[in-house]
Amino acid sequence: MGSIEIATVRCAVCGRESRQKLLRGVRQSGPPDLDLRPAEMARSTMQHWLQQCPACGYAAPRIDEAEPQAAEIVAAGPYRALLAEASFPPLARRFLCRAMLLEEMGDLHGAAEATLHAAWVADDWRKPDLARAWRLDAVALFRQGPPPPLEQRVRIVDILRRAGDFVGAAAQAGELERSSLPEPVDRVVAFERRLIAAGDVRAYTVASALPPPAARPHVSHRAGRPVRQPRGGLFAALRRLLGRG
Ligand SMILES: [Zn+2]
Repeated sequence: MGSIEIATVRCAVCGRESRQKLLRGVRQSGPPDLDLRPAEMARSTMQHWLQQCPACGYAAPRIDEAEPQAAEIVAAGPYRALLAEASFPPLARRFLCRAMLLEEMGDLHGAAEATLHAAWVADDWRKPDLARAWRLDAVALFRQGPPPPLEQRVRIVDILRRAGDFVGAAAQAGELERSSLPEPVDRVVAFERRLIAAGDVRAYTVASALPPPAARPHVSHRAGRPVRQPRGGLFAALRRLLGRG
Protein backbone atom coordinates (compact mmCIF):
# COMPACT_ATOMS: atom_id res chain seq x y z
CA MET A 1 0.00 0.00 0.00
CA GLY A 2 2.98 2.30 -0.40
CA SER A 3 5.44 3.56 2.14
CA ILE A 4 6.19 6.66 4.18
CA GLU A 5 9.73 7.91 4.36
CA ILE A 6 10.77 10.25 7.16
CA ALA A 7 13.70 12.54 6.49
CA THR A 8 15.28 15.73 7.79
CA VAL A 9 14.85 18.38 5.13
CA ARG A 10 16.01 21.99 4.91
CA CYS A 11 13.30 24.53 4.04
CA ALA A 12 14.17 26.22 0.76
CA VAL A 13 12.49 29.44 1.95
CA CYS A 14 13.90 30.00 5.48
CA GLY A 15 16.67 27.39 5.80
CA ARG A 16 15.25 25.75 8.94
CA GLU A 17 15.60 21.97 9.15
CA SER A 18 12.62 19.82 10.12
CA ARG A 19 11.50 16.20 10.04
CA GLN A 20 9.13 15.65 7.13
CA LYS A 21 7.32 12.69 5.63
CA LEU A 22 7.39 11.66 2.02
CA LEU A 23 4.73 9.32 0.73
CA ARG A 24 5.53 6.84 -2.02
CA GLY A 25 3.48 4.53 -4.19
CA VAL A 26 0.05 4.65 -2.54
CA ARG A 27 -2.65 2.96 -4.57
CA GLN A 28 -6.38 3.29 -4.51
CA SER A 29 -8.56 0.21 -4.65
CA GLY A 30 -11.59 1.68 -6.39
CA PRO A 31 -12.87 4.46 -8.60
CA PRO A 32 -12.47 8.08 -7.44
CA ASP A 33 -15.33 10.42 -6.67
CA LEU A 34 -16.69 12.44 -9.58
CA ASP A 35 -14.58 15.39 -8.40
CA LEU A 36 -11.59 13.00 -8.51
CA ARG A 37 -11.13 12.70 -4.77
CA PRO A 38 -9.28 9.36 -4.74
CA ALA A 39 -10.58 6.16 -3.18
CA GLU A 40 -8.85 4.48 -0.26
CA MET A 41 -6.00 4.08 0.59
CA ALA A 42 -4.94 7.28 -1.16
CA ARG A 43 -8.00 9.01 0.31
CA SER A 44 -6.61 8.69 3.83
CA THR A 45 -3.16 10.01 2.98
CA MET A 46 -4.02 13.67 2.46
CA GLN A 47 -1.93 14.73 5.46
CA HIS A 48 1.13 13.58 3.51
CA TRP A 49 0.39 15.27 0.16
CA LEU A 50 2.13 18.47 1.22
CA GLN A 51 4.98 19.26 3.56
CA GLN A 52 4.90 22.46 5.63
CA CYS A 53 7.84 24.17 7.29
CA PRO A 54 7.13 24.55 11.04
CA ALA A 55 9.22 27.75 11.12
CA CYS A 56 8.00 29.90 8.19
CA GLY A 57 4.86 28.02 7.10
CA TYR A 58 6.01 27.40 3.54
CA ALA A 59 3.88 24.58 2.04
CA ALA A 60 4.88 22.45 -0.94
CA PRO A 61 5.04 18.80 -2.04
CA ARG A 62 8.75 19.09 -1.07
CA ILE A 63 9.75 22.08 1.02
CA ASP A 64 13.42 21.63 0.15
CA GLU A 65 12.46 23.04 -3.25
CA ALA A 66 11.00 26.51 -3.88
CA GLU A 67 10.33 28.82 -6.78
CA PRO A 68 12.22 32.16 -6.64
CA GLN A 69 9.05 34.11 -5.72
CA ALA A 70 8.06 31.80 -2.85
CA ALA A 71 9.99 33.58 -0.07
CA GLU A 72 8.36 36.92 -0.82
CA ILE A 73 4.84 35.41 -0.90
CA VAL A 74 5.37 33.49 2.36
CA ALA A 75 6.62 36.66 4.10
CA ALA A 76 3.71 38.84 2.93
CA GLY A 77 0.65 39.78 4.99
CA PRO A 78 -2.00 37.57 3.33
CA TYR A 79 0.06 34.40 3.79
CA ARG A 80 0.83 35.27 7.44
CA ALA A 81 -2.87 35.96 8.04
CA LEU A 82 -3.86 32.63 6.50
CA LEU A 83 -1.36 30.77 8.72
CA ALA A 84 -2.92 32.44 11.77
CA GLU A 85 -6.51 31.56 10.75
CA ALA A 86 -7.34 29.32 13.71
CA SER A 87 -10.92 28.60 12.61
CA PHE A 88 -9.73 26.52 9.62
CA PRO A 89 -8.73 22.86 10.07
CA PRO A 90 -4.88 22.85 10.08
CA LEU A 91 -4.64 20.51 7.09
CA ALA A 92 -7.05 22.69 5.10
CA ARG A 93 -4.90 25.70 5.96
CA ARG A 94 -1.87 23.91 4.54
CA PHE A 95 -3.67 23.28 1.22
CA LEU A 96 -4.88 26.90 1.15
CA CYS A 97 -1.30 28.10 1.76
CA ARG A 98 -0.23 26.05 -1.25
CA ALA A 99 -3.15 27.49 -3.24
CA MET A 100 -2.09 31.04 -2.35
CA LEU A 101 1.48 30.36 -3.48
CA LEU A 102 0.31 28.85 -6.77
CA GLU A 103 -2.19 31.63 -7.42
CA GLU A 104 0.44 34.32 -6.77
CA MET A 105 2.84 32.51 -9.10
CA GLY A 106 0.20 32.41 -11.83
CA ASP A 107 -0.73 28.69 -11.72
CA LEU A 108 -4.47 29.23 -11.33
CA HIS A 109 -5.49 25.64 -12.13
CA GLY A 110 -2.96 24.35 -9.61
CA ALA A 111 -4.37 26.80 -7.07
CA ALA A 112 -7.90 25.56 -7.85
CA GLU A 113 -6.80 21.97 -7.25
CA ALA A 114 -5.21 22.81 -3.88
CA THR A 115 -8.33 24.77 -2.86
CA LEU A 116 -10.49 21.76 -3.74
CA HIS A 117 -8.28 19.61 -1.53
CA ALA A 118 -9.00 22.05 1.32
CA ALA A 119 -12.72 21.49 0.66
CA TRP A 120 -12.22 17.71 0.99
CA VAL A 121 -10.59 18.31 4.37
CA ALA A 122 -13.58 20.46 5.36
CA ASP A 123 -15.86 17.54 4.33
CA ASP A 124 -13.94 15.23 6.66
CA TRP A 125 -14.12 17.79 9.48
CA ARG A 126 -17.88 18.22 8.91
CA LYS A 127 -17.51 21.91 8.11
CA PRO A 128 -20.05 22.27 5.29
CA ASP A 129 -19.87 26.08 5.12
CA LEU A 130 -16.10 26.03 4.62
CA ALA A 131 -16.36 23.14 2.15
CA ARG A 132 -18.95 25.05 0.13
CA ALA A 133 -16.94 28.30 0.12
CA TRP A 134 -13.73 26.55 -0.94
CA ARG A 135 -15.49 24.60 -3.72
CA LEU A 136 -16.80 27.89 -5.12
CA ASP A 137 -13.30 29.41 -4.77
CA ALA A 138 -11.87 26.43 -6.66
CA VAL A 139 -14.34 26.88 -9.53
CA ALA A 140 -13.55 30.62 -9.71
CA LEU A 141 -9.82 29.81 -9.95
CA PHE A 142 -10.42 27.19 -12.68
CA ARG A 143 -12.35 29.81 -14.64
CA GLN A 144 -9.82 32.62 -14.11
CA GLY A 145 -7.07 30.45 -15.58
CA PRO A 146 -6.70 29.37 -19.21
CA PRO A 147 -9.85 27.74 -20.66
CA PRO A 148 -10.04 24.39 -18.82
CA PRO A 149 -9.96 21.19 -20.91
CA LEU A 150 -13.21 19.26 -21.42
CA GLU A 151 -12.69 16.87 -18.52
CA GLN A 152 -12.06 19.74 -16.14
CA ARG A 153 -15.29 21.43 -17.33
CA VAL A 154 -17.18 18.19 -16.58
CA ARG A 155 -15.60 18.14 -13.14
CA ILE A 156 -16.72 21.74 -12.51
CA VAL A 157 -20.35 20.57 -12.85
CA ASP A 158 -19.72 18.20 -9.94
CA ILE A 159 -17.87 20.77 -7.83
CA LEU A 160 -20.72 23.29 -8.23
CA ARG A 161 -23.33 20.62 -7.44
CA ARG A 162 -21.42 19.55 -4.31
CA ALA A 163 -21.38 23.23 -3.29
CA GLY A 164 -25.17 23.33 -3.66
CA ASP A 165 -25.00 25.79 -6.58
CA PHE A 166 -27.54 23.88 -8.67
CA VAL A 167 -28.21 26.83 -11.00
CA GLY A 168 -24.49 27.16 -11.72
CA ALA A 169 -24.08 23.40 -12.09
CA ALA A 170 -27.03 23.20 -14.52
CA ALA A 171 -25.63 26.09 -16.57
CA GLN A 172 -22.24 24.38 -16.77
CA ALA A 173 -23.91 21.08 -17.78
CA GLY A 174 -25.95 22.93 -20.41
CA GLU A 175 -22.82 24.48 -21.90
CA LEU A 176 -21.26 21.01 -22.15
CA GLU A 177 -24.38 19.48 -23.71
CA ARG A 178 -24.31 22.07 -26.51
CA SER A 179 -21.10 20.46 -27.79
CA SER A 180 -21.15 16.81 -28.81
CA LEU A 181 -19.78 14.95 -25.82
CA PRO A 182 -17.80 11.75 -26.35
CA GLU A 183 -19.13 8.59 -24.70
CA PRO A 184 -18.93 7.89 -21.74
CA VAL A 185 -18.52 11.56 -20.75
CA ASP A 186 -22.10 12.18 -21.92
CA ARG A 187 -23.26 9.64 -19.31
CA VAL A 188 -21.40 11.48 -16.56
CA VAL A 189 -23.10 14.75 -17.50
CA ALA A 190 -26.51 13.01 -17.69
CA PHE A 191 -25.89 11.52 -14.23
CA GLU A 192 -25.00 14.98 -12.88
CA ARG A 193 -28.23 16.29 -14.43
CA ARG A 194 -30.26 13.75 -12.44
CA LEU A 195 -28.44 14.66 -9.21
CA ILE A 196 -28.95 18.39 -9.84
CA ALA A 197 -32.68 17.82 -10.48
CA ALA A 198 -32.89 15.90 -7.19
CA GLY A 199 -31.04 18.61 -5.25
CA ASP A 200 -28.42 16.03 -4.25
CA VAL A 201 -25.09 17.43 -2.94
CA ARG A 202 -23.63 14.07 -1.87
CA ALA A 203 -20.41 12.54 -3.19
CA TYR A 204 -20.66 9.81 -5.84
CA THR A 205 -17.90 7.80 -7.46
CA VAL A 206 -17.17 7.89 -11.16
CA ALA A 207 -18.54 4.32 -11.30
CA SER A 208 -22.00 5.56 -10.22
CA ALA A 209 -22.34 7.42 -13.51
CA LEU A 210 -21.83 4.27 -15.58
CA PRO A 211 -24.20 1.35 -16.12
CA PRO A 212 -23.96 -1.52 -13.60
CA PRO A 213 -21.14 -4.02 -14.22
CA ALA A 214 -23.65 -6.70 -15.32
CA ALA A 215 -24.19 -4.68 -18.48
CA ARG A 216 -20.45 -4.65 -19.09
CA PRO A 217 -19.36 -8.31 -18.75
CA HIS A 218 -16.08 -7.55 -20.52
CA VAL A 219 -14.90 -5.51 -17.54
CA SER A 220 -16.59 -7.24 -14.60
CA HIS A 221 -13.53 -9.39 -13.90
CA ARG A 222 -11.66 -6.21 -13.03
CA ALA A 223 -13.81 -5.51 -10.01
CA GLY A 224 -11.75 -5.00 -6.87
CA ARG A 225 -8.48 -4.99 -8.73
CA PRO A 226 -6.21 -2.28 -7.37
CA VAL A 227 -5.62 0.59 -9.74
CA ARG A 228 -2.91 3.20 -9.62
CA GLN A 229 -3.59 6.65 -8.29
CA PRO A 230 -5.15 8.59 -11.18
CA ARG A 231 -2.80 10.72 -13.18
CA GLY A 232 -4.84 11.47 -16.27
CA GLY A 233 -7.91 12.84 -14.49
CA LEU A 234 -11.55 12.05 -15.11
CA PHE A 235 -11.19 10.50 -18.56
CA ALA A 236 -8.43 8.15 -17.41
CA ALA A 237 -10.63 7.04 -14.49
CA LEU A 238 -13.53 6.37 -16.88
CA ARG A 239 -11.29 4.44 -19.27
CA ARG A 240 -10.06 2.27 -16.40
CA LEU A 241 -13.64 1.54 -15.33
CA LEU A 242 -14.58 0.55 -18.86
CA GLY A 243 -11.54 -1.68 -19.16
CA ARG A 244 -9.85 0.47 -21.76
CA GLY A 245 -7.17 1.87 -19.46
ZN1 LIG B 1 10.70 27.58 6.30
